[in-house]
Amino acid sequence: MEFDFKLLEELQDLDLKIEKMEEEKSNLLEFSEVKELEKELRHLKTLFEEKGNQHGKENLKLKKLEGELDLLEIKIQKEEKRLYNGTVSNPKELSSLEGEVKLLKAKKDFMETELLIQMDKVDALTKEQNDLSLKVSEYTQKIKEMEEELKRKLEEVEKSLNAFKGSKSEITPKIPDEILKAYNNLRGKKSGRVVVDLEDGVCQGCFMALPAEKVDKMILQKEKLWFCPHCQRILIVK
Ligand SMILES: [Zn+2]
Repeated sequence: MEFDFKLLEELQDLDLKIEKMEEEKSNLLEFSEVKELEKELRHLKTLFEEKGNQHGKENLKLKKLEGELDLLEIKIQKEEKRLYNGTVSNPKELSSLEGEVKLLKAKKDFMETELLIQMDKVDALTKEQNDLSLKVSEYTQKIKEMEEELKRKLEEVEKSLNAFKGSKSEITPKIPDEILKAYNNLRGKKSGRVVVDLEDGVCQGCFMALPAEKVDKMILQKEKLWFCPHCQRILIVK
């Protein structure tokens, strides 16, 4: 029985499709944006933790300041009471007490300013923490969506791959060993098409013309396995 070279062309088409799908698969796995986002997310989480620590420290300072200010307020009230309730009558002592109250009040003013600054600091850190937390959930959601998308794409590619491979395993046994061997050998050496048409005496792989004598011979024996003398590709004579 004569071999139909169409089968070899079909096999080549399938092999090229399989090659493309394998490439797509590895591209999907290798150049996935998910990896970049995961890196960014790890960075954000570290930042969030750092801000948390900072916030804790600054908040502790704030509480300490508030406590100190409360104590100072109590002390001022106590000294003012002493100043006005008549327990101290010595003018020298009174003036010294007055001076002390003045000093305490100045200290209180200073501490109140410090407290406001500290409050701003804590507020800013709270805001930064909230922003980071929002970003972390945004990234987490984005990664989840992208992973689902990647999974869907991979499944699609896998499905096509399986279909092509199935067709290939149906066609391959129908191709004579000698032809299959030559074809596989060429595929190992060349990329792209290794089975090409001979059109008007010209190889469609390297676009070189074949000697007319040889072309005549080929046309007479189309069923034979022919190679291009220039590029060694398998030629299909139509
Ligand atoms: Zn050629």
